[in-house]
Amino acid sequence: MSIQHLIRPTIKALKPYSSARDEFKGAKDDLIFLDANENPFENGINRYPDPQQRELKSIISDLKHVPIENILLGNGSDEVLDLLIRMFCEPNKDNVIILPPTYGMYEVLADINAVETLKVNLSAEQFQPKTTTILEAANEHSKILFLCSPNNPTGNSFEASTIEKLLKNFKGIVLIDEAYIDFSSVESWLARLEEFPNLVVTQTLSKAYGMAGIRLGMCFASTEIIATLNKIKAPYNINELTQKKAIEGLMNNSKINCQIDSLLKEKEVLVKALDEVKFVQNIYPSDANFVMIKVDDANKRYQQLIEKGVVIRNRTSQPLCENCLRLTIGTKEENLRLIEILKTL
Ligand SMILES: *Cc1c(COP(=O)(O)O)cnc(C)c1O
Repeated sequence: MSIQHLIRPTIKALKPYSSARDEFKGAKDDLIFLDANENPFENGINRYPDPQQRELKSIISDLKHVPIENILLGNGSDEVLDLLIRMFCEPNKDNVIILPPTYGMYEVLADINAVETLKVNLSAEQFQPKTTTILEAANEHSKILFLCSPNNPTGNSFEASTIEKLLKNFKGIVLIDEAYIDFSSVESWLARLEEFPNLVVTQTLSKAYGMAGIRLGMCFASTEIIATLNKIKAPYNINELTQKKAIEGLMNNSKINCQIDSLLKEKEVLVKALDEVKFVQNIYPSDANFVMIKVDDANKRYQQLIEKGVVIRNRTSQPLCENCLRLTIGTKEENLRLIEILKTL
């Protein structure tokens, strides 16, 4: 299956901008660069950054075992998701499918691009995709199916067999948002990229890697999809400071696994303590660095916590999330403080 027919005609016909740094890619030493109208006085950031982020991508390629031609980087995953919508969805004609309750940006990005959002709620008990209902809801204009696994805000991962069924039967792109995969014991879909030409996986440095501030999102897909995304991305979308900091962070990432282990242990401690809190009615199983809980009155408990200086996320207005709160796992001290406060309410 080729995905060419899914690409917008405008994008297929596009002749991309060719930047100075694209046209000349020679090694930097011993060359005089008079091609980009930069200020020549060196200060560390006077030059345009590498538009293809070759050094950073080669580190990511080693880390994730994915070839460089199958990687695109974005200004956060949010930019990657926006590029994908712009590549596949014709405004005022095509649609995307999302599975609420889920990450709010999918719908906002579709809205910005004048792309309709079809919604098929997850199952009420287990928060799993309802494959038959999704495939029935899809039509010839359904270009992207957004699967968030582990899902935000519920915290669970989707069954591999369910995802596989969707990959095989949905006629558009299946995007698996793996923002929380590093906290999860289930396997990433990166290993299956070659099997499914319609599979796109996104990950981010914003969560487990501890670099939300630099904004770096990663997109993994077929060479065909990545090549087209490269045509439409802004030439210098990843700035020099972000590239440097990401390289530095990924080269010295020995701490990350320890931090993940400790957050997962802390999550267990928090879950046990939440179980003792009178007004907590349900604690949902979590594969991520947060837990969703159902309480007696989410608005009231949310407000009370703010008054005590703790900010959490109130998800009560989301489908299937009535009276639900989402708690990020903090440091041991922060979690202890949260528990202490919850017990006094
Ligand atoms: C936090 C999060 C992201 C990360 O977005 P960035 O733009 O990379 O910071 C993506 N998807 C989901 C579901 C998230 O919760």
